[in-house]
Amino acid sequence: MTEGAAWHFDNSLVRELGGFFAPHQAAPAKAPRLVVFNDPLAAALNLPGRAAGEEALAGWLSGRDPVPGSEPVALAYAGHQFGQFNPQLGDGRALLLGEVIAPGGARFDLQFKGSGTTPYSRGGDGKCTLSAALREYLMSEAMAALGVPTTRSLAVVATGEGVWREEPHHGAVLTRVAASHLRIGTFEWAAAHHGLDAVQRLTGYALQRHYPALAGAANPALALLEAVADAQARLSAKWMARGFVHGVMNTDNVTISGETIDYGPCAFLDAYSAGQVFSSIDRQGRYAFGQQPAVTRWNLYRLAGALIAAIAAVDEADTEQARLLLESWGARYELYWLAEMRAKLGLFTDQADDLTLAHDLLTALEGQQADFTLLFRALGRSLEQGYGAIADELTDREALATWFQRWQARLADEPQEGADRAALMQAANPVYVPRNHLTDAALAAAEAGDMAPFMALLDAVSRPFDQRAGLDQFERGAAAGAAPFVTYCGT
Ligand code: AMP
Ligand code: MG
Repeated sequence: MTEGAAWHFDNSLVRELGGFFAPHQAAPAKAPRLVVFNDPLAAALNLPGRAAGEEALAGWLSGRDPVPGSEPVALAYAGHQFGQFNPQLGDGRALLLGEVIAPGGARFDLQFKGSGTTPYSRGGDGKCTLSAALREYLMSEAMAALGVPTTRSLAVVATGEGVWREEPHHGAVLTRVAASHLRIGTFEWAAAHHGLDAVQRLTGYALQRHYPALAGAANPALALLEAVADAQARLSAKWMARGFVHGVMNTDNVTISGETIDYGPCAFLDAYSAGQVFSSIDRQGRYAFGQQPAVTRWNLYRLAGALIAAIAAVDEADTEQARLLLESWGARYELYWLAEMRAKLGLFTDQADDLTLAHDLLTALEGQQADFTLLFRALGRSLEQGYGAIADELTDREALATWFQRWQARLADEPQEGADRAALMQAANPVYVPRNHLTDAALAAAEAGDMAPFMALLDAVSRPFDQRAGLDQFERGAAAGAAPFVTYCGT
């Protein structure tokens, strides 16, 4: 353990937000065993690390032994699930342990996922399978390394107990680290059940915690709406730039902090298609890759709905501000997206046609079966190797020929050296993402007791932009003719 590393909790939510949670204890795991532990994250948060002993960590991070200073609670929230309002969701298989303060002063929630039933379990078993816990660990750590705001994963502990999901699985508890677990659904819950006063209290708490510079705003609820709209615009642009499909963008899975949360049926694109869906339950394609910005905006309207009485209570005229802010959200999103795409395309300067250039690339890629990740790396190589580097990624080798010439002409307008451009593109276009076939294989091996493939994949995606010798297998796309990949929610 490093000097001073300990469980230093400071549980502001429990102190300040009475009524929004139910105190509850984790189900004690019978035979906990540490499966993965995030040493660098523990060190960054000044939490006990491996030096505390794997047995001690397994006891704490499975619910068997109370974590000193924690005050476990299940949070209440509501949410629009696939468009339908459900007034009563909540932590049905999760438990907030409390908050810790990182050395720089930032505050983080520690939360268990899979630690047994709570008052909000609604008939569910409160459990999590080992492979679902490992999947979230891998995906969230990959996203963090890709520079996408996200919750993190501190540990996965196998409970030694079985979990039933049509067949028996190993059970596990994931320990999640988040800026907070406040969601759009938390505001919807407050508005639906407790009205203006509760929404105002929650708004004050959320501003203080995530946007302290706005805590003294004339209209706090309006300030919060704008801050969340901005954070979510930035987040959505990052997802689109990295080829990430969240899969279940219900309002209970949209954070106030702007972090990605809830890695259930998510996946990274293989072949690019705006209509790509992986989740088995998303039959209408509501949460398809290309729909994500529009869905984020739809979700922000739900937040506005929960906040509108609080906005009007300060000044009725401010509701018009809220309306304008959401109406113009697309332009805000587009600015963030364009900044991402400029880096992906190696552009140092801004020109008026850049948005069209970026859009036209994606349009031309539709139907080409081009691997999203490999294609952008190929663009980087084409700086030296020419169009042939790209043609190899396409079904119709000529599909990007016209676009390529426009891009070349655009690049010629810039004074930067080729080497600088290559470096810009390499830093924006990852080599290693948790590819679906690799993730599946790693999780299957882990279920069978072999963690080696998981650890190797985790290592690759933890430095995603840094091409390394011996990691070719993590770079390649799925074999041609592989069955379409499907993900399952909450498994
Ligand atoms: P999710 O799809 O993970 O966002 O979960 C949606 C809601 O269902 C949340 O309120 C969860 O707590 C709850 N839930 C999901 N799986 C379970 C489970 N196995 N037991 C109890 N509640 C669950
Ligand atoms: Mg959820």
